[in-house]
Amino acid sequence: MIDADAIRNVVILGGGPAGLTAAIYAARANLRPLVIEGGEAGGQLMLTTLVENYSGFADAIMGPDLMTAMRTQAERVGAEFLTEDAVAADLSQRPFRITTQGGTEVRARAVIVATGASAKMLGLPSEQRFLGRGVSTCATCDGFFFRQQDVVVVGGGDSAMEEALYLANMAHSVTVVHRRDTLRASKIMQDRALKHPKIAFVWNTEVAEILGDGKVRAVRLRDMTTGEITERPIDGVFVAIGHRPNTDLFKGQLAMDAAGYMVATRGTMSNVEGVFLAGDVHDHTYRQAITAAGFGCMAAMDAERWLQGDEALAPEAHWSPGQPAVATRAKPGPTRA
Ligand code: NAP
Repeated sequence: MIDADAIRNVVILGGGPAGLTAAIYAARANLRPLVIEGGEAGGQLMLTTLVENYSGFADAIMGPDLMTAMRTQAERVGAEFLTEDAVAADLSQRPFRITTQGGTEVRARAVIVATGASAKMLGLPSEQRFLGRGVSTCATCDGFFFRQQDVVVVGGGDSAMEEALYLANMAHSVTVVHRRDTLRASKIMQDRALKHPKIAFVWNTEVAEILGDGKVRAVRLRDMTTGEITERPIDGVFVAIGHRPNTDLFKGQLAMDAAGYMVATRGTMSNVEGVFLAGDVHDHTYRQAITAAGFGCMAAMDAERWLQGDEALAPEAHWSPGQPAVATRAKPGPTRA
């Protein structure tokens, strides 16, 4: 049971790699962070199977196991958790106020937003059934498992071209299925994909169904102009139709780009003093568990340093003497878009 009356030093929104790493760093800095991890905690890794690209695991690790280990680690070093969704945030004054679905209002001196992004999906029931069993939304994460196999990439934007080009290095064949006859991707990415000998294109076509038993065996395709249905044997389906950052809660309060990704202004700090950003919520470039974790570390360190210069700092927090306050920090960090 958390003490809802206390003003927390740091409240972290999101229980994925960014939020949990921020929690580990903030807890070890004696800031006693509270993680509002959401009703379905753990982030995108809860939807994956084997993770082979998170350093430190020689034999790979299952995504949910990695998240459980991170959460246990955060708890062991002193982070507290609220397993509820945040439904409202008032960042207009300090302490900031976050309200959860269960009606708890939490007050915080600093907030780290690590609410992540969700891959857009096609909306087919079969797609959910095979997620992690032949359906993926991340070639960098899962492409390795499709070495010398035949895969489909769905989409016509830069993400789809990037996934197709990445997969072409290892798969036997890559077929891009796109619902129109022109690509949305940038010219340079189009050129690369269109010229690649291993990448084929199926135009004006949508994936109507993903077929298989324990794993994906085929896709059912619908020609959008003729309505004709065909089946194509396939080993994997990569859905690359874009991502949606989970930033709705902060619309009108935190600066965002046109696609809804948050924009940091100084290091990991948002346009609101005391509100920091970590992970996919502001990173649409790398989107890896390990980079999200790195951002979580950065945001926690930025928050800690910012709090040092904040007179509202709780007396129980411990500071290394001699550390400069952020206000006097020599160099502001780079601005990320
Ligand atoms: P995007 O540009 O929105 O493209 C999404 C693609 O998926 C479009 O081709 C769209 O078709 C298709 N699509 C959307 N919903 C669909 C559905 N339900 N069924 C089938 N197809 C569907 O998204 P993105 O490719 O993720 O790119 C997002 C942003 O990140 C862009 O600004 C992009 O330039 C940038 N980005 C850059 C790079 C890079 O430079 N290396 C890499 C990745 C992303 P329509 O074309 O018919 O709408």
